[in-house]
Amino acid sequence: MAKKPLTSKKQVKEEVKDKKKISGMSDTAPKQPYIVFGAPHIGEEEIEEMVKTLRSGWLGTGPKVAQFEAMMAEMTGATYALAVNSCTAALHLSMIAAGIGEGDEVITTPLTFSATVNSIIHTGATPVLVDVNRATMNIDETLIEKAITKKTKAIIPVHFAGRPAEMDTIMKLAKKYNLVVIEDAAHAIGAEYKGKKIGSIGDLTCISFYVTKNITTGEGGMVLTNNKEYADKIKMMALHGMSKDAWKRFSDDGYKHYEVIYPGFKYNMMDIQASLGIHQLKRIDQYDAIRKQIWDFYDEHLKSLPIDLPSYKDKDIKHVMHLYTILVDEERSGISRDRFMQEMHKRGIGTGAHYNPVHLHKYYRDAHGYKESHYPNAEYIGARTVSLPLSAKLVMDEAQRIVDAVKDIFKKK
Ligand SMILES: *Cc1c(COP(=O)(O)O)cnc(C)c1O
Repeated sequence: MAKKPLTSKKQVKEEVKDKKKISGMSDTAPKQPYIVFGAPHIGEEEIEEMVKTLRSGWLGTGPKVAQFEAMMAEMTGATYALAVNSCTAALHLSMIAAGIGEGDEVITTPLTFSATVNSIIHTGATPVLVDVNRATMNIDETLIEKAITKKTKAIIPVHFAGRPAEMDTIMKLAKKYNLVVIEDAAHAIGAEYKGKKIGSIGDLTCISFYVTKNITTGEGGMVLTNNKEYADKIKMMALHGMSKDAWKRFSDDGYKHYEVIYPGFKYNMMDIQASLGIHQLKRIDQYDAIRKQIWDFYDEHLKSLPIDLPSYKDKDIKHVMHLYTILVDEERSGISRDRFMQEMHKRGIGTGAHYNPVHLHKYYRDAHGYKESHYPNAEYIGARTVSLPLSAKLVMDEAQRIVDAVKDIFKKK
């Protein structure tokens, strides 16, 4: 006699329907919850701080932002830390503070998020792309000098996946040609290059607190600099271009008049966002340790598969392990990268592709005449790269599921 099931068929059907609704998964959806790529860990402290901020009535830029800025300055050793509402805003303001605009050229890498290049365009300047080193995935420092012209004003290295770019060479070139170095450190909070903290090397350093980044404020960014002139400009331009000193001229106390001295931007960070950042930053070492544990676990379990694994081991740097990027080469692996991502999705695991190189996107192909073959290393990586989940929220059971899924895909191919 058949055993009576514990749950009715109807119940099971409804449960499955519910899961599909939540994750948008197909009929082959697994029973375990979907592992969302880059899901942030949010602690009770953030929630309590957020509620306190809401109850205080001061939601905009205020004491919490100031506290978060002070903590970031202390952590990175930068003299000034200026909070804004995204890393894209941080990049844009950094270039404007450095006087970059129409007619200027700015060197960066094609293997980055489009925001790096978009922000150059926003200033009126022209992006000039330099291919990456295939092993480090960072801008190939040996190719930079050839790309420098009379119009070049700045270099924006991107510390890919949390690995600092070759800053010694970049700073030397900047000195030689009188260029500003603006670091896109969206992946690299807390990273170090030859014992120096990221944020203390280039003229300006831009951090992201986007949801998937190593620490988050939901949306948010920060500029780090030791240059007072840049810092003052950025602070003023992040909030409509209003001079905070105007009130001194108008009145001694009471109402404080402001004066707009530049047609600025609305890029300020809110105390609501900083309420998250303050507690996320306190946990940064703990988060780094969790990601390292997962990284080592992936290394150990995936090393025998026909894929390339990333490496953080390099004596000159502290890699902060933002992305675990494997390379799936169709010829070697027997499966295409896109197919691999679909197979992971079918097994309830979200992955990322960092990146489809900037120059292959429609706008850049059309506006700048970029073609496939222009940046072969970025294209090689772009066609094969897959990022496995590596966030601080991930637990070892999930890492095990991820490893099992990858192994299963290669077993079945
Ligand atoms: C996320 C990211 C940005 C943009 O950061 P936002 O805070 O989302 O504006 C810029 N550059 C790189 C390399 C990034 O990964």
